[in-house]
Order: sequence, then structure tokens, then C-alpha cells
Amino acid sequence: MNLQLENRVAVVTGGSSGIGLATVKLLLEEGCKVAFCGRDKHKLAQTCQSLQTLYPQGELLAVSCDVLDKQQTEDFAKQVQSHFGQVDVLINNAGQGYVASYADTPETAWLHEAQLKLFGVINPVNAFMSQLEQSDIASITCVNSLLALQPEPHMVATSAARAALLNLTLNLSKTLLPKGIRVNSILLGMVESEQWRRRFENRNDKNLDWDSWIGAIAQKRGIPMQRLGKPEEPARALVFLASPMASFTSGAAIDVSGGFSHHI
Ligand code: NDP
Repeated sequence: MNLQLENRVAVVTGGSSGIGLATVKLLLEEGCKVAFCGRDKHKLAQTCQSLQTLYPQGELLAVSCDVLDKQQTEDFAKQVQSHFGQVDVLINNAGQGYVASYADTPETAWLHEAQLKLFGVINPVNAFMSQLEQSDIASITCVNSLLALQPEPHMVATSAARAALLNLTLNLSKTLLPKGIRVNSILLGMVESEQWRRRFENRNDKNLDWDSWIGAIAQKRGIPMQRLGKPEEPARALVFLASPMASFTSGAAIDVSGGFSHHI
């Protein structure tokens, strides 16, 4: 299927690992020019180097930027504009989850989760808006979580903040459609990524290797597909929604959870 993204310009926030990195790769494979960001300059440079080796023809721009910093995000948008001259696609992926029950969630974590899930989208949307308005295929696609509809007690703050983001993206889809910008999201279940690698490093039972540890989580949580997702699986859903192949879709939230959803 030709996703009609060739020579278009895509921006991916949090593109230096996990789902964001898989999305950057897929976009490059589609012939897209890609700008991506992350906070850690060293990780960003390493990722950029390995992408340039994998895709020698690929047109790439890696910028250090914390999407929670309004000024840094505006500077990122200016750099993309001067490097590529346009932006057609914005994929808001940057972030991570916060694992804690209600009793164990301090006020600072509530505030940070709300800020990350909302301003992690609001800042890039505002910074790239004028460029997106110029595109004839403009789209914004957000990584969200199934927690938005199916809250989990062990991730109480993330669940609530994810619900707020789902609410915001539906609202934005109505507000931005007259400007020709489609807005969609994906609702993730558990997907292997650097975030999960960090949790693996902190596991209680150090005798478990990665595959056994991941397998035990899938079994314990009752994921119908009996495994965690691979980063390229949500990446495919993101790139489809972002592309003109989804030209009649706005306000959608696609489930990418291995059958883990229990709601109708
Ligand atoms: P990773 O940790 O592998 O990737 C996260 C990426 O986001 C990195 O590139 C990281 O780089 C970047 N990032 C994090 N915070 C910021 C920030 N404030 N500004 C700019 N970049 C940032 O995790 P995942 O691939 O798992 O996460 C991707 C998204 O998917 C996140 O929004 C996460 O919450 C969501 N998600 C993931 C699930 C999963 O099971 N994997 C489940 C549900 C949702 P750096 O640290 O250098 O900034």
C-alpha cells in the first residue's frame, strides 16, 4: 500500500527510542523526511547515527528538545522549518508512564502526569500549528494508552491523565478540522520499549531473563495475545493514521493492545 507520504515532512516527538524510534524508521521507509526530538543529547546523537547507517538516503533532523518546555518546542519548530521548509505530519509520542497506586502517588506526581500528558501534546501542537495549516495533508496523531478508557489502580495518575488526553484529542479533532488538520490517536496496551527495559533492570527476581520476565507479565496481566506488543506494531497504526490513507478519519482512537480492551 502506498501511504502517499513520499517527500512529505513528519515530526515525531520522543523519536530516540521505543515506539517513537520505530515510527521514525517506518516514516523513512515510506520516503518521508523526518525530524525527531528527545531530551538526552547523547541518546539522540547515537540514534541519529544508527538511522543514517540504516537509511543512507534518508533525510533526517534530530533536535534536543523537552516538549514540556514551551520555548524549546518553539525552537524545535523553527529548526524544522528552516531545515525542511514545511511540516505535514506531527506525531506526539514523547513521554512515559508512572506506576503507583492512589496511596503511593504524591501530589507532585499527579501534577507531573497531568502536565506531561497534556502539555506534551499542547506545546508541540501550538509550535507546529502554523506549518501544519499550510499543508494539504495535515495530521496530528497522538500516542495514548488504553488506560484512558480502562483505568488501572496501579497506574492511577497516568490513567486519569490519559483520559484527559483522550478528551483533548477528540476536542482538537473538531477544532482543527476547519483548518484542514485531522487529529487521531492510538490506545496502547503494553509494548516492549526502553521504558520496559528500565523496569526490567529494576525487577525483583534478577534470575529472570528478558523473555521470561516479559512472558510472565503478559501471563499475569491476561493479555489475550499472550505477549507484549513490539514497537513496530503501534508505529504502523500511527503512520497509517498520520497518512493520507486515513483521509476520512479524524477523532478516532485505534486500539493497539493485543486484545486487552474490555470496554465496548
Ligand atoms: P521509551 O522510553 O522507549 O521512549 C520514550 C521517548 O520519549 C524517548 O525518545 C524519550 O527520550 C522521549 N521523551 C520522554 N519524555 C520526553 C520529553 N519530555 N520531551 C521530549 N522527549 C521525551 O518509551 P515508549 O516507547 O514506551 O513510550 C512512547 C510513548 O508511548 C509514551 O508516551 C508512553 O507513555 C506511551 N505508552 C507506552 C506504553 C508501553 O507499554 N510501552 C503503554 C502506554 C503508553 P528522552 O528520555 O531522551 O527524552
